[in-house]
Amino acid sequence: MLREYKLKDIYQGSLKKGVDIIGGLTQVIKERGITAGIVSGIGAVTEAHIGYFNAQTKEYEEGHFRENMEILSLRGNVSIKDGDVFPHLHAVLSKRDFSAVGGHLYAGTTVYAFEFEIISMDGEPFVRQFDNNTGLHLWKE
Ligand code: ZN
Repeated sequence: MLREYKLKDIYQGSLKKGVDIIGGLTQVIKERGITAGIVSGIGAVTEAHIGYFNAQTKEYEEGHFRENMEILSLRGNVSIKDGDVFPHLHAVLSKRDFSAVGGHLYAGTTVYAFEFEIISMDGEPFVRQFDNNTGLHLWKE
């Protein structure tokens, strides 16, 4: 499955301390009418809520970290899910002892400092649909 897009706009910005990363990025994406795109960012969080998808149970296992961590790498994409724009984001976070944790990003991950880029793409956006085979909401043909 492959689609071709044209580059539309590139945004660079930051979110303030205390803002939820998913909420803040979703607001920017909606305000700018972005339906297909690439998201990246670095910074730090005061808490994180991330998920690991267990392919055996086909369910997410959730992790809550209530500590300051660096966002070494946050990246993801924008597509459509349930008729609405949906940013799908993953992050690698590092702790004080320099060990790293990471996973699928959920609401409940709070900014200490965050700088991001969003690349908006022109073309037919992918639409997510539940896939019985994997238990995930994947892009449909
Ligand atoms: Zn994910």
